[in-house]
Amino acid sequence: MKIMKFGGTSVGRPERMHQVKDLITRDNERKIVVLSALSGTTNALVGIGEALAEANKDLAKERIDTLHKHYLTFYKELLKEEAARSKAEKVIKEHFEFLNIILKISFNEAINRDILAQGELLSTKLFYTLLQELEINAVFLPALDFMSIDENQEPELHKISEKLKVILANYPEENIFVTQGYICKNHRNEVDNLKRGGSDYSASLIGAAINAEVVEIWTDIDGMHNNDPRIVDKTRPIAQLSFDEAAELAYFGAKILHPASIWPAQQYNIAVKLLNTMEPDAKGTTITAKEIGSGVKALAAKDGITAIKIKSSRMLLAYGFLRKVFEVFEKYKTAIDMITTSEVAVSVTIDDLTHLKEIVLELEVYGTVEVDNNQAIVSIVGNMIAESKGTVANIMDCLREYPLRMVSYGGSRHNVSILVEAQYKNDALTSLNEGLFEWKDEV
Ligand code: ADP
Ligand code: ASP
Ligand code: MG
Repeated sequence: MKIMKFGGTSVGRPERMHQVKDLITRDNERKIVVLSALSGTTNALVGIGEALAEANKDLAKERIDTLHKHYLTFYKELLKEEAARSKAEKVIKEHFEFLNIILKISFNEAINRDILAQGELLSTKLFYTLLQELEINAVFLPALDFMSIDENQEPELHKISEKLKVILANYPEENIFVTQGYICKNHRNEVDNLKRGGSDYSASLIGAAINAEVVEIWTDIDGMHNNDPRIVDKTRPIAQLSFDEAAELAYFGAKILHPASIWPAQQYNIAVKLLNTMEPDAKGTTITAKEIGSGVKALAAKDGITAIKIKSSRMLLAYGFLRKVFEVFEKYKTAIDMITTSEVAVSVTIDDLTHLKEIVLELEVYGTVEVDNNQAIVSIVGNMIAESKGTVANIMDCLREYPLRMVSYGGSRHNVSILVEAQYKNDALTSLNEGLFEWKDEV
C-alpha cells in the first residue's frame, strides 16, 4: 500500500480537490489518502479558540461566521449534483452547529482541541462526498478510531498499527481509504492533535503502522529546496536526501515537513517522497536511507529560540554538573535543541517556553543563569559536513558580518548549527545561500 498525504493548499480550493481526486485515481494501487484542513482553516480555528480564551464571544462568533461562509461557497463549487450537495450541507451544518454550541459553554483546553479538529473533519468529509458524487469507490476511515498519543504526547505506533490492520482487513477489495491528518485521541480519550503541520506526521505514522511501500507528501512546491523559499529568492529543489538529512532539515525549520515526520518512515525504512500537487510530474524529493553526495545540501532556520547559559565556577572537574542541568529540563519535559560547553559554563537552547520560569529557578541552584530571547538557529545540513575540509571555514566566512551566539559542530555528520539573534536570520540564510552553493549554471 502507499500513503498519499495532501496539505492545506492541495485541498484549499474546489478545483484543487478535483486535482487530488485525479491524482489518487491515476493508478489502481491500494492507498490511504491523508488530508489536511483546507488552507486557512486551522489558523481560523486557532483564532476562534483565542477569542474564546479571552472570553470575547462576539469576536469568536464573527470568526465562526466568516469561516462558515467560506464553506458555504466552497461546497457549491465543489459539487454539482443535488444529492451530494445536500450531504455536504448536512456536514457543514453539523460542524458549524458544534462550533456555535461551544460559544455557549465554558471554554477549556480540551474544547479548544475539539475546535482545532474541525478542519480535517470537514475537509475529509467534503472530499469523500466528492468521491461519492463521482461514484469512485472509497472507504472513509476516521482517524480518531486508530490514531492515538500517550500521556507524553508520543504516538502509540503499536496500537495504531494493530487497530489499522484490523480495520483494513474488513475491506480487502477496496483500494482507496480517506482519513484525516493531524487529529488523534489522547490518553484521556479526548480529541487531540499532532501539533501544527501534523498531517505529515500522521502520514508517516500510518505508513509505518501498515509498513507501506512509500509515503507521498503532496504539497505546493516541487520538493525540499536547498533553502527556505519564503525568505531567499534563489532556491532549487533537491532530488535526493537521506532520512538523517531530511530529519535535520525538518527539525530545524524546513516547514515543508513536520519536525517529527521522518522517524516513523526511517524506522521501517519506507521511502518518503515530497511532491507537488500543482505540478504532479515534477521530480520532487525522494528521501531514503541512501546517503548520496557529500558536502552542504540545504539550509533551514528556526526562530522563537531562547538560549540559556548556566555558569558555574564549580564545573571545573565537577562531573555530574551537566547531568544535573539536563535533569531540570527533563523534569519539565522541555527539549533542548543545541548545546555548547566551556570549562565553566554550558549554553543550551529551547523553543518551548512553557516552564522557563521554573527551569531558571531550579538552574540557579547550580550557578548564574542568563537568558537570551529572540534567537534563531540557522542549520547547515548535508552529508559528512564535519569531515569535509573547508566547509566550516566557508560557513564562517559567509557569516562574518553577524554576531554568533552559539556554534554547534560535530554533533552529527549531517549538521552544523549556528545561533544568531533572530534579526540576523534572513540575512544569514541569504549570505550562506550565495556562499555555499554553486549558482553559475543556473538559468
Ligand atoms: P502543506 O500545507 O502542503 O502541508 P506547508 O505550507 O506546510 O504545506 O509546507 C510547504 C511550504 O513549506 C512551501 O510552500 C514553502 O514555502 C515552505 N518551505 C520552507 N522551507 C522549505 C524548503 N526548504 N523547501 C521547500 N519548501 C519549504
Ligand atoms: N491543519 C493542520 C495545520 O494547519 C495540520 C496540517 O496542515 O498539517 O497545522
Ligand atoms: Mg504542512
